[in-house]
Amino acid sequence: MKKMYLSPLFVAMFGLTACGGTSSSSTTDAAADGHATHTSTWSYEGWNGPTYWGDLIGHDGTLYPTCGTGTTQSPINLTAADQQALTNITFNYTNNTDTVINNGHTVQVNASDTATSSITVDGKTYKVLQVHFHSPSEHEVDGKLADAEFHIVHQADDDSLAVVGILLNGGASTENAGYASLITQFAETKGHEYSEVNLTSAIDFNDLLPAAGSRATYRYTGSLTTPPCSENVKWHVMTSAIDVTDAQITALKEYFDGNNRPVNAIDKHVLIQDTTAAQ
Ligand SMILES: [Zn+2]
Repeated sequence: MKKMYLSPLFVAMFGLTACGGTSSSSTTDAAADGHATHTSTWSYEGWNGPTYWGDLIGHDGTLYPTCGTGTTQSPINLTAADQQALTNITFNYTNNTDTVINNGHTVQVNASDTATSSITVDGKTYKVLQVHFHSPSEHEVDGKLADAEFHIVHQADDDSLAVVGILLNGGASTENAGYASLITQFAETKGHEYSEVNLTSAIDFNDLLPAAGSRATYRYTGSLTTPPCSENVKWHVMTSAIDVTDAQITALKEYFDGNNRPVNAIDKHVLIQDTTAAQ
């Protein structure tokens, strides 16, 4: 497979982004047309698109080998899941001050209340780090993509990651209030791309979840869906999608349309669908 050479400077500019556990770092440069462009080592199309993420190399070797060699890569098609009655996730989200950043791959809200805001699943507590979106969705359900997918990323004290995925579909007649504040405030990033800016109104992550009683999840152990595609990420994708208006989907796509990694083979994943949603 064709190898892509990248300079050390190019490499050094990048940290863990999007689905990554830490906040991203990146730089911009000015294109000939005067618009800021992203000097990214990876993208969602072309020579550095998903097909080639595992082959991007720098002076010190391949940057993101797991993207190409990993055996439990995300996203996947959520289908033919093993049905089990699992213990529900406990959500301990607190409402606090947040910041938002357009990092060139997504718009991401970073939580500042990581000390107290968390989920508990299977007896393990993961502190909330950030929420960001992909459009269309990354996970498929029975082979079908949703209009968008939000990822709430959490990290345990041992640095392991747990992501809660929420699928969104347009077509609703009334605006989803929970997402309205979030999407509206994405506008704070305009003109400040790649910079972290304060939100005027904190986002309550509880408002991003399906209604209590509809919080069953598909669960499997996969990976980050963006480079470095690190594995052993615990995925919890809500089985109930959230309905929003077409206008809300359009508003999201103004920022990113096509920032979804294609689904990966499912054969080495063990997919479980929770049959209880008491919370
Ligand atoms: Zn993501």
